[in-house]
Amino acid sequence: MSEPSQPQQGSIEIVDSYLSAPEIANRIADLAREITAAGPFEKPLVVVCVLKGSFLFFADLVRRLDLPCNCVFLGVSSYGGTTESSGAVRLTHDLTLDIADRDVLIVEDIVDTGLTMSYLLTILGARRPRTLRVCTLLHKPARKRVDVQLDYIGFTIEDVFVVGYGLDYDERYRNLPYIGAMRFEPA
Ligand code: 5GP
Repeated sequence: MSEPSQPQQGSIEIVDSYLSAPEIANRIADLAREITAAGPFEKPLVVVCVLKGSFLFFADLVRRLDLPCNCVFLGVSSYGGTTESSGAVRLTHDLTLDIADRDVLIVEDIVDTGLTMSYLLTILGARRPRTLRVCTLLHKPARKRVDVQLDYIGFTIEDVFVVGYGLDYDERYRNLPYIGAMRFEPA
């Protein structure tokens, strides 16, 4: 995981603006147009919100899709309370809908090492959807550990630890309306 600097005891957290709310909104409008253009589908598109990080992105994206959709939620836990990836992925809440023979779109906040997405594609792919696509708001290729196919990418970013717009550091900052790059400085 990206660690521009590790938090030290007594260090202060600094969040620099990285992607503004209007930049995010404009890019989501483009993504929604692309996704809509791939339809229409036989049945409503199953749009999977990967909790918790993608809750704001998901909410803004689905409101811009000009397609019948089923909104479903999947809980995944991959990180502890720090900026360090454990590499271990745990399912904390499963889908409440059978996705067999359905067109499915996974909506993720960020693909970093790719481990989480690889896990999601394996478990959802085993349920035999008709199509399974991925839309991620952010892609951080510098940290890639496994290859995963990303069908829709909002922004490709450098190796920085980002927070805000759903993304957390130790369960804080999710409510920022923009995306910030986080760093630590001695107090
Ligand atoms: P991956 O399995 O691809 O390494 O990471 C996926 C998950 O790690 C994301 O869904 C997100 O929760 C977390 N993550 C990865 N990079 C960042 C980051 O820069 N900031 C935050 N807040 N979370 C991240």
